[in-house]
Amino acid sequence: MSATLTNWIGGQKQAASAGKTLDNICPATNTCISTIPRSGAVDIDNAVAAARKALKGPWRTSTAAERAGYLETIANTIEARLEEFAQAESRDTGKPVALAKSVDIPRAIANFRFFAGAIRHDETGCHSMPDAINYTVRKPVGIVGLITPWNLPLYLLTWKTAPALAMGNTIIAKPSELTPTTATLLAEVIHEAGVPAGVFNLVHGLGQEAGQAIVGHPAIRGVSFTGGTTTGAHVAASAAPHFKKLSLELGGKNATLVFDDCDLDKAVSGALRAAFANQGQICLCGSRILVQEGIYDAFVERFTNQAKGLTVGDPTAASTNIGAVISQAHRDKVEQYVAVAREEGGTVVAGGKRPTLNGPFADGAFFEPTVITDVDETCRITQEEVFGPLVTIQRFSNADDAVRIANTVRYGLSASVWTGNLDTAHKVSARLDTGMVWVNTWLHRDLRVPFGGVKDSGVGREGGTWSLEFFSEAQNICVYLGDN
Ligand code: NAD
Repeated sequence: MSATLTNWIGGQKQAASAGKTLDNICPATNTCISTIPRSGAVDIDNAVAAARKALKGPWRTSTAAERAGYLETIANTIEARLEEFAQAESRDTGKPVALAKSVDIPRAIANFRFFAGAIRHDETGCHSMPDAINYTVRKPVGIVGLITPWNLPLYLLTWKTAPALAMGNTIIAKPSELTPTTATLLAEVIHEAGVPAGVFNLVHGLGQEAGQAIVGHPAIRGVSFTGGTTTGAHVAASAAPHFKKLSLELGGKNATLVFDDCDLDKAVSGALRAAFANQGQICLCGSRILVQEGIYDAFVERFTNQAKGLTVGDPTAASTNIGAVISQAHRDKVEQYVAVAREEGGTVVAGGKRPTLNGPFADGAFFEPTVITDVDETCRITQEEVFGPLVTIQRFSNADDAVRIANTVRYGLSASVWTGNLDTAHKVSARLDTGMVWVNTWLHRDLRVPFGGVKDSGVGREGGTWSLEFFSEAQNICVYLGDN
């Protein structure tokens, strides 16, 4: 029997006001595991009323230390329930439980701990003049909307929730309708931590309904959105007339640049992780590998062999490297891109098809890790975000060529550069049109650094002080000291 998940509005569990529900399908087994409220504008209105009331209550005068205390309690509780959170994340997404246990949930815990520390040590500026003193205070934005995708559900929701709480905002969160469970557990944990009712409101539902109602609501003064570029454009257009603060973390088509002088073993395993981690469904995944001609053949051979050696299947098995992708529809999309690549002259050197699995996983949304060569930067397969276990490998001749190919796409989120030459590392990194570059590593994260993209990968930065600034309004106060 499937569970019934609810919204959390004003500290209360609530069904959608219209009584409608959506099915939550486990992609690994293609079975319904829960129903969620299909909320709409009325539910968002109710959440706004609760969030507005909470802004006027004790939350308004809470100290940074008190809010940091809440964040630490939340982190500790998630840590104590790590297994339950990881299992839930795996069931909703199809990702290996081991990945959820080692990456998704620990990172969610780290997000709360990090922003607890950040707000404790936060400081603002003071600019003195001969006859006056200016000081800056930071006020909460007010009610903020947090809209998140399905690929790293708790990880990304907490990346926004923690700084929003730290700065004293009240929240209306809408997780992806495909991955509602850990957000619901989070609402429960936040409530149990003693955060006042109405500070964190969770509203489930479809993007075009509940999500759209958040973006268009005049009382919601800021929206932090992570998701696809097309949706991001829509969100930006809807939010603009209200002059909301807007943070957009969008799609990517990231290049992995591998130079002749790299450590080949490390480059192959790094590029493999960048290509297929989380079934290739991380906005930062290196889905375009560019390899210098001197090592091209050796790289392709090793990379392809290792891709073929990855185990696809049961997300609960410790030996599984690749779980299910998010849905049957998404698997179909990945499969169609393989056909597109073939039409464009590409050669599928690994994967390219659905694996045959038995038992409960026979109908799951699985796809083999796929490697495609013989394509160039004019192809759709190297330009469009697939967001699945599919990677292309292209050849380049020198640094100019590598930078040119890397920068051809509309996206500009991240890149990784693999080289033994420090000069190449610095010079190439600086020429890449991306918000982030990793050298001889990938997804090596320090939560203090700016995170975000350029071009069609988004607007704004998250992380450290960037998040604290987004979730607050700076006010300058100038005190005139007189003439004497
Ligand atoms: P999506 O854009 O379909 O959905 C993201 C969220 O937006 C969901 O909660 C959805 O319900 C909601 N939504 C959809 N339409 C909306 C609307 N009209 N108004 C308001 N909200 C709406 O994205 P997805 O398929 O869930 O996620 C995959 C995408 O997210 C990929 O493109 C990936 O690159 C991107 N992503 C980016 C980052 C980053 O940090 N840059 C991180 C993770 C994922």
